[in-house]
This record gives sequence, C-alpha cells and structure tokens, in this order.
Amino acid sequence: MTAAVRTADAVPFSFEIYPPRSDAATAALHETIRHLADAGPRFISVTYGAGGSTGGRSLELVRHIRETTDVEPLAHLTCVGTTYADAARLIREFLDAGITSFLALRGDPPLGATEDDAFLGDLETAAQLVQLIHRVQAERSPYTECPIPGVPGAARVDRRRKAEISVAAFPNGHPRSRHPHEHIDALLAKQAAGATSAITQLFFHADDYLGFVEQSRAAGVVIPILPGIMPIVSPARLRRVLELTGEQLPTGLAAALDAEPTAEGQRAVGIAHAVELAREVVAGGAPGIHLYAFNHHETVLEVLREAGALVPSELEAAR
Ligand code: FAD
Repeated sequence: MTAAVRTADAVPFSFEIYPPRSDAATAALHETIRHLADAGPRFISVTYGAGGSTGGRSLELVRHIRETTDVEPLAHLTCVGTTYADAARLIREFLDAGITSFLALRGDPPLGATEDDAFLGDLETAAQLVQLIHRVQAERSPYTECPIPGVPGAARVDRRRKAEISVAAFPNGHPRSRHPHEHIDALLAKQAAGATSAITQLFFHADDYLGFVEQSRAAGVVIPILPGIMPIVSPARLRRVLELTGEQLPTGLAAALDAEPTAEGQRAVGIAHAVELAREVVAGGAPGIHLYAFNHHETVLEVLREAGALVPSELEAAR
C-alpha cells in the first residue's frame, strides 16, 4: 500500500481507535498508528471502556501516540458507575500524562440495566464530567516547568494548555431519549458545561447529519460538530454496529452489501458509501471528518484518498 499525506486544501480529518486486547494486537495497532499518523490527522482518539474496563490500556495507548507521533491524542473518558473522587483521580492521571484533549462521555449502562437503575454513580451525565475536567484542571498550577537541555537545574516556565473537551452528539437522537429533542438539549447542556466541540455517532445519510446541525444551531449550539463516519465493509459489521448504536437499518446500503458475493466487493461498497457521505457532509459545511478506524488503517486511508483528502507522499510518488 502506498503511504499518503493530507492534500493542502483538504478538510481536517481524525481517527478513532480502541485499546488492544492482547500483545499481538498491540504490535499490530502500533503499526496502524504509524500509518494513520503519517497521513496528518488533527488527532487520533482512543476509546475508554465504560466502568473502567479498558482504563490502563487506554492511558497506555494515548501515551504511545503522544510519545511516538506528532499527532495529538484525544482521550475518551466515561463516568458511568464511578464516584466523584475516582473520576477526578482518573482525570488527574491523564492530565499528568500530558493529555489535554478529551471526549467526555457518560458511557453505557451495564447490559440489562435501565436508566432508572442505580448504575450511574455520582456523575449522571456527560455534562457533569465536562465540568469536572475543567474543575480538576483549574485546581492544578497554571504553569508547567520544562527542563532546559544542557543547563542543569534550569527550567523554562510555560503556561499550561487549557483542556479541549469534546462531547458526543447523536444526529438521530440517543437510543434511550425520552423525547424527540432530548439529544439537542443534552448537547446544549454539555456546551453550557464547557464543551469545546462535539463528535457525532455514526449515521448513514448525509441529511441526518446536516439536518441535525441545522436544528442544533437553531437551538443555540455554536460549538463545531464533527461528523463521525464509519466505513461499513461487510453485512456482519453492519449488523454489529446497529446492535451497538441502536441506529435504523440503512436499507439501500444493506441491500448493496448483501448483493456482493465477495468480501472484496463488499469492502468496495462500504468504502464508496463512506466516500459519498464524506463528500456530501463536507459540501454541506462539515468542519472536518472523523473516521472510525476499527484499528485498521487501510480502509479509512482509502476513504480519504478517494474523497480527495490524501495524495501519495512525495517519497512514495518518487519510487
Ligand atoms: P449524556 O450526554 O450524559 O446523555 C445520556 C442521556 O442522558 C441521554 O439520553 C441524554 O439525552 C440525557 N441527558 C444528558 N444530559 C442531560 C441533562 N442535562 N438533563 C437531562 N437529561 C440529560 N461509550 C464508551 O463506553 N466508551 C467510549 O469510548 C465511547 N465513545 C463514544 C464516542 C462517540 C463519538 C459517541 C457518539 C459515543 C461514544 N460512546 C462511548 C457511547 C456513549 O457513552 C453512550 O452513547 C452513552 O449512552 C451516552 O453518552 P453521552 O456522553 O452522550 O451521555
């Protein structure tokens, strides 16, 4: 595969990955990160298991991105089922590791629990987690000391970077919403709490995103809303994401995937669908594209290349 870099006039793009579950998967993911980073994304986000199920591995992965690439790591954090004290401790741990970009989430309840169950813990919504991140950061010294190389004992004093806090947005509503505007009210609450941008749940039609942005703007949401796009490269992947997200079946895409007899053909359908979606939302004014990478670089980089956001790197082109 040819390495590729961002075209000069491309919209910003970013990727989401999740912590690996084994040593073999870790080595493969580090290779994937290298390829994703080479493409010049604005950030790479790392998911966090609700209830702390991936805690240590998420932190390790954001550290790895920070230490081995020039790309900003963005750490997802969830608050479901934790105490204030534990959530504050977790935030401090990430800030201590030099992470200043977060996606503040409530997290899903454990399987079988309902909204009325006592699963939530001290923080009931993502908006409260946004406030807590700002509060924990405000309690820290406003300055950091960076050693000056070659001058023993000397340090340069810099102002700490303020945390950038993204939040989740749901173009087709949250599957557990109790009324049609609850997802927009929740986004307004997160903005009021200090969120600086939003990333959307995946969606299958550009109008879902564009209509949602229009309604959000009319309701007073001013923060950038980044569309989350997932290339659906097989019927099995489609079934799985519908289960996880509660989104409606996209009948056209499902039929096109089912009609393809080979995995290669299905992959081409999924990539073409994601490329079309990316083109349409960008034409409609999206401030960038956030791609769910599923811990593989080939598919998302192909989407960006076909959408015109990437060109082969000079080094590769010269070969
Ligand atoms: P909230 O914004 O707190 O919303 C939860 C519910 O409460 C909604 O029904 C909302 O309408 C309602 N609500 C919110 N605020 C208020 C308020 N002020 N008053 C009344 N009701 C309110 N999950 C993970 O476990 N780990 C991840 O890494 C992860 N990454 C994600 C990334 C993206 C881009 C997205 C879109 C989702 C991600 N999720 C992740 C899933 C997410 O945790 C779930 O969808 C969860 O059920 C809702 O999280 P939230 O942050 O939107 O919660």
